[in-house]
Amino acid sequence: MTQPGYGQASQNRFDDLAAVVPDVRGQTWLKVRVYINNKEVDLPLADGSLLSDRIFRSRDHTYRSSSFSNWPGASVDVANTRSEAEVGACEETYQALRRYATTHAAGAQRVEFEFTAVNGTCNPCKERIERLRERIKPLFPNAQVTRGERSRVTARANYSAASPASAVPGRGGLTTYGFAPGQAELRVSAPAVAAGLTGRQALYYQGILSDQSGSGLVDPQHLSQIPDHAGPARTDRSSPSGSLRTPSPTSSDPGNPWQWSERDGTYISRTADQREWAMDPAERRPVPRETFDQRYPYGYQNQAGPSSTTQGQGQGQGQGQRQRRS
Ligand SMILES: [Zn+2]
Repeated sequence: MTQPGYGQASQNRFDDLAAVVPDVRGQTWLKVRVYINNKEVDLPLADGSLLSDRIFRSRDHTYRSSSFSNWPGASVDVANTRSEAEVGACEETYQALRRYATTHAAGAQRVEFEFTAVNGTCNPCKERIERLRERIKPLFPNAQVTRGERSRVTARANYSAASPASAVPGRGGLTTYGFAPGQAELRVSAPAVAAGLTGRQALYYQGILSDQSGSGLVDPQHLSQIPDHAGPARTDRSSPSGSLRTPSPTSSDPGNPWQWSERDGTYISRTADQREWAMDPAERRPVPRETFDQRYPYGYQNQAGPSSTTQGQGQGQGQGQRQRRS
């Protein structure tokens, strides 16, 4: 009866979002938690401190030579952001999990890490977190599903919902912070509500990177074409496992990652039953694929059709197109 109505993971996110708020001198602050089999594991770091107590900061030169700073095959964006807070966070999490795996690998069927910061993860740091996932997977063979086709190694990024948009431009428009709808959920923090917070102070975004998700990368030039978020905020569940589960999409709610389609000139998503949805940039909301095709038969950017693209259209789309419906 004295237990709060929400789980430890929910409380941790609330605590961590509060801890990373003092974002001083332009530094990004970041916290990491690790859950194994739905239970938090407080991993010791090399210096004896605990991972969950550590606040990682950008421009920490301790991790200059880390393989999460830059690596062969990484994007230019990664090379240009070598002192992000995520570099140290990925390095310490990897080393701590490597030590943990030497004695506990067999029992681990689910490995999850949560990153919490004020801003959503930037594009190059999504690459870093993917690299962390790839390096963690072989350490925990029992977290592989059906002969290694998929793994239960998942990363989540929690960030402030102070902005109504789940993704915002960063570094002068060179990158994107946050995730597109479909890869980020707007969530109600149960501890925040219990503490009396209201409005956006009681909300946060959670982006997901897993074998089933997309890369999470959002091209900054496409930002204006995605909606603020996919739908109403979901409530934190009562247990770590509940709160960590990805909800299955309903027929009217695109639940799979949004992928940019050059041909359609917008983001496309597919529900579990393979129904396709397209973002209508004029309305900034998802519509069924068939509706989009009726409105924009040549894609959103090519409204005049393939034969007359020299007219230089691109402004004020939407109005005339809707009349095409029959
Ligand atoms: Zn970053």
